[in-house]
Amino acid sequence: ERAAVLERAAEPAVTRGGRRVPVLANVASLAEAEAAAAWADGSGLVRTELLFGGPGRPGVDEQERVLREVVAAFGERPVTVRSWDVGADKPLPFFPRVAEENPALGARGIRMIGTTAEPLLVEQLRAVCRVAASHPLRLMFPMVTTRGEVDDALRLLEDAAAAETGAVPPGLEVGIMIEVPAAALSVAEVARGLDFVSIGTNDLTQYVTAADRGNPAVGHLAAGVSPAVLRLIGQVVDERPDGVEVSVCGDLASRPAVVHDLLRLGVDELSCAPAVVPEVKAAVRACD
Ligand code: PEP
Ligand code: MG
Repeated sequence: ERAAVLERAAEPAVTRGGRRVPVLANVASLAEAEAAAAWADGSGLVRTELLFGGPGRPGVDEQERVLREVVAAFGERPVTVRSWDVGADKPLPFFPRVAEENPALGARGIRMIGTTAEPLLVEQLRAVCRVAASHPLRLMFPMVTTRGEVDDALRLLEDAAAAETGAVPPGLEVGIMIEVPAAALSVAEVARGLDFVSIGTNDLTQYVTAADRGNPAVGHLAAGVSPAVLRLIGQVVDERPDGVEVSVCGDLASRPAVVHDLLRLGVDELSCAPAVVPEVKAAVRACD
């Protein structure tokens, strides 16, 4: 059966009802991007805190060089660069660190704006603008909670673009991750004017179920398919602003058995672990 699934792994995934569902891959390294490109319709999540996970702080030139390699692996297919998602389960050696009592509820992801780590975000956005000037690129911000954070991030992006290409490159699509319940519950406001949202079900499940995603003692809560999370995903689809695409890049999208539920709720696009792209595409094809 796996042989039959693999045979069609590089083809587009279309439901029995004729709906084309892009199936992209989550990648954390160039090697993973090159492997994923054999099957995936692009990358729906480049985890930059892993891609640049070495001890040294990469400059703008270095980030541009590596991002161009990742982008080249996917040719004309879209690549979604997530800005630094540092903190909690994702430390990064060259990031300024502050001890926190509850790091999962702390200064992670986009919350670096306004802290001593903000210049690192500006450097990253400059590299993204350079690459986006010549390749279809998507940029997304993680751990968004409020509209104010989105406005701050967009302002930093414009400043970074001004230092590089002048204006934000027209080919750059901009979105946010929906992984904090407050953002899911106010998607109409937080996603206004953006191109897409991408639902991070790992953190969304963690915060909806109040179960640490890394703690095996509560793994049955954090790793299960929560009906409450599915309901929130449906709400995000229903309440997103017109024209905003909804993708799921959390691990729920890597479970072929859940694909039917996600499509039924109206999700437009999936991004999963590279190894399961063939199975996720097969699951899409089995949907009516
Ligand atoms: C998520 O939270 O679902 C997600 C995709 O991001 P990460 O697992 O990197 O936190
Ligand atoms: Mg997350």
